[in-house]
Parts: sequence; C-alpha cells; structure tokens
Amino acid sequence: MENVIKTGETPGKGTYYCTNCGQKIELEDGQTMPPCPKCTNNGFTRTDQHENRF
Ligand SMILES: [Zn+2]
Repeated sequence: MENVIKTGETPGKGTYYCTNCGQKIELEDGQTMPPCPKCTNNGFTRTDQHENRF
C-alpha cells in the first residue's frame, strides 16, 4: 500500500504527487507539505499514479 503524505507533514526532501490530480510538488528537508496548488487536495504520494505505464 502506498503511504499517503498529508498537508502539514514534513516528509523530507523529495518529489511528491497529488493523489487527486497528479500535480508534482518538490520539497526540501524541513519544508511543510502545502495543499495542492492546483486542486487544494491534502494527500500526496511519492509516486505518480497517474503516469504508471512504463
Ligand atoms: Zn491536486
């Protein structure tokens, strides 16, 4: 199961994707996850499930 990161958490440096629209968010260490700038969703994952066709 994919771990979901929520708005307000500090998951650390990395690239995250909105679970609703797939918007990419890049965070640095210590940065707090913002709401999605595109759809204001509050859930993110480390992998883009919208482009999962390799
Ligand atoms: Zn979104």
